[in-house]
Amino acid sequence: MLTIGTHMSIAEGIVKTAENVVKMEANTMQIFSRNPRGSGYKTYSGEEIEKFQKITKENGVQFLLAHAPYTMNLASGKAETYEFACTVIREDIARMDALGMENLVFHPGSHTGIGVEAGIKNIVAGLDQGITGRENITVLLETMSGKGTEIGASFEELKAIRDGVKHPEKIGICLDTCHVFAAGYDIVHDLEGVLAEFDRVLGLSILRAIHLNDSMMPFGSHKDRHAPVGEGEIGLEALLGVMRHPALRDLPFYLETPFDEEGHKAEIQMIRERLKEEN
Ligand code: FE
Ligand code: FE
Ligand code: ZN
Repeated sequence: MLTIGTHMSIAEGIVKTAENVVKMEANTMQIFSRNPRGSGYKTYSGEEIEKFQKITKENGVQFLLAHAPYTMNLASGKAETYEFACTVIREDIARMDALGMENLVFHPGSHTGIGVEAGIKNIVAGLDQGITGRENITVLLETMSGKGTEIGASFEELKAIRDGVKHPEKIGICLDTCHVFAAGYDIVHDLEGVLAEFDRVLGLSILRAIHLNDSMMPFGSHKDRHAPVGEGEIGLEALLGVMRHPALRDLPFYLETPFDEEGHKAEIQMIRERLKEEN
C-alpha cells in the first residue's frame, strides 16, 4: 500500500497535528524536531506523547519522520555555529526517539569555505556525539541540491559521512526528488540509471524515505525550489514513476510542496487516484 503524507506544522501541538494528518487521509507525516528557523523547542508531556502515539498507531499513520531545523549546520567551521549544531543534533535525536519517531532527517550542512573534506569531518564528529547506538531512531542524511557550499549533493559525499561515523548502522538516506534532480541526477529520463548509481555507491537497502517534490528550477541547476507535484520541471509522469518503481514503492513518501493542509489533501488524493487507475 502507498504510504504518503506531508510535512506538517506543529504549531497547534503534536496531538492536534496527528489528528489533522488523519483528517487529511494521509498515512505518514513529517514534523520539525524544533523551531526550524530558530533554536527553541517544546518539551512534550508524557500524556501528550502517549496521545500522539495512540492516534498515529490506531489510524495506521506510520514511518513518522522528524526534520531537524535549517539553522543547524554540522559542517560549519565557525565554532559558535558548530557547537549549536552539535547540541541540536544530540538533543533532537534523544527527543525524537522518545517521541517514537522512526527517523530523523537533516541537511548535512554547508562548509561555507572550509572545504568539503573538513565539512564532512565536522559532520561525522557531530553525529558521533549525538548517536549512542542504543536508540531506536535512524538518522537520515538528505540528498541536497548543491546550492552554495552545500554538502550532500552527490551520493559519494553522503557515503563518506556514513562511512566515517562510529554507528553507520544508525544512518540511512532520505532522497529528495527535487534536490537530486537539481543536483544533476536525471530521474526524468533515467530513473533506472540513478537508482543503479545509488545502489552502487550507497546501497538501496539504506534508503528509508522519499521527499516527493517537483522542482521549479531546471535539471542540474543546483537550486532548491519546490513545486507542487506535476507543476515543475520533473513533471507528474516522472514522479509517478518514482512512486511505482519496485525498489521505491514500499518506502514512505512525504510531500514538501507549497500547499496548506487542504491543498495537500487534494494533492494526495490526486496521486492516489492516478496510481489506482493503473491497477
Ligand atoms: Fe529537507
Ligand atoms: Fe526535502
Ligand atoms: Zn528542498
